[in-house]
Amino acid sequence: RWTTLSAALTGTVALALAGCSAAGEGGGDAPLVGVALPTTTSARWIADGENLQAQLEGLGYDVTLEYAEDDVPTQVEQLEQMIAAGADALVVGSIDGVALKSVLAEAGAADIPVIAYDRLIRDSSDVAYYASFDNFRVGVLQAQALLTGLGVLDEAGARTSAAGPFSVELFAGSSDDNNAHVFFAGAMSVLQPYLDSGVLVVPSGQTEFDEIATQGWSGDVAGERMQTLVGAYGAGRTLDGVLSPYDGISRAILDVASGIDQPALPVVTGQDAEIDSVKLVKDGTQHSTVYKDTRQLAEVTVSMVRELLDGGTPEVNDTTSYDNGVQVVPSYLLTPALVTQDNYERVLVDGGYYTAQEIG
Ligand code: BGC
Repeated sequence: RWTTLSAALTGTVALALAGCSAAGEGGGDAPLVGVALPTTTSARWIADGENLQAQLEGLGYDVTLEYAEDDVPTQVEQLEQMIAAGADALVVGSIDGVALKSVLAEAGAADIPVIAYDRLIRDSSDVAYYASFDNFRVGVLQAQALLTGLGVLDEAGARTSAAGPFSVELFAGSSDDNNAHVFFAGAMSVLQPYLDSGVLVVPSGQTEFDEIATQGWSGDVAGERMQTLVGAYGAGRTLDGVLSPYDGISRAILDVASGIDQPALPVVTGQDAEIDSVKLVKDGTQHSTVYKDTRQLAEVTVSMVRELLDGGTPEVNDTTSYDNGVQVVPSYLLTPALVTQDNYERVLVDGGYYTAQEIG
């Protein structure tokens, strides 16, 4: 960038600017941070990109922000270009957690630190840090919300006298995303005893991750699976609840479930507090969602980048949970929060994430 600029300038101006640059005040020598995110099809990732870009630029860094629209080769190519452009650090929200090994080896060879953003990058020794939420806890919150919505737990989390059996179906996220496995493990840590005791039943019999995963976190894929599941319901058999890992999937599930001939919609969980789902939580259509403040995640990540570029050591709060297959990646994990009809205003509006007008 600097070479092109200086070539275009007259000697005097170039000299003046070069002096400025050497003192660290010029635009040309700012560190370049590459940010590679998975998709713009979900509101949360757009917010992530905006937050990261604004905060990194606020520190005076140059930023290249790219979305790969859930296509792995595109993401690999974007990372290759960032490396070729001389990126000083990479922030990567991966699509497929195992597909980046070789491109990140190139980053490693060029001494470019890599931060895994929200999703763990697996099988690579070239990931310096991981910034995310307590993903197991996300699954626990989803499962507890399902049980509360069904009346098996009361608002304080205590077991009620409701004996069931309640019919539920389970959905998980994309199998190539490490988070999907962790969310499901967290949820099952809560649900398994209720399945074992018969308080919950899964009429389809589909309870294994591979049977219930949703490739690409796609609402369409989930909606198709839901279509095949609902055939078993109606005519006296009620679908009481659905464990859903993400708001885009929740809305697809609710769309299909609204066609079942039963008195009320099933209790459906979610994640990300996407605005379209928050509206449904407000009006009682979607039971709940899990809110993860992407502003905080950007803050943690940006301070990791700053420490790394300044030669310091980023702060972490977890050094045991995230083994990526070749190393335990030092992590900073933020705390997710359950959002329901009762608390959405306090959490999301008072917390400044959405205005009351946006929610409507
Ligand atoms: C994120 C979730 C998100 C999902 C689908 C996961 O890796 O942690 O917040 O709902 O991807 O985009």
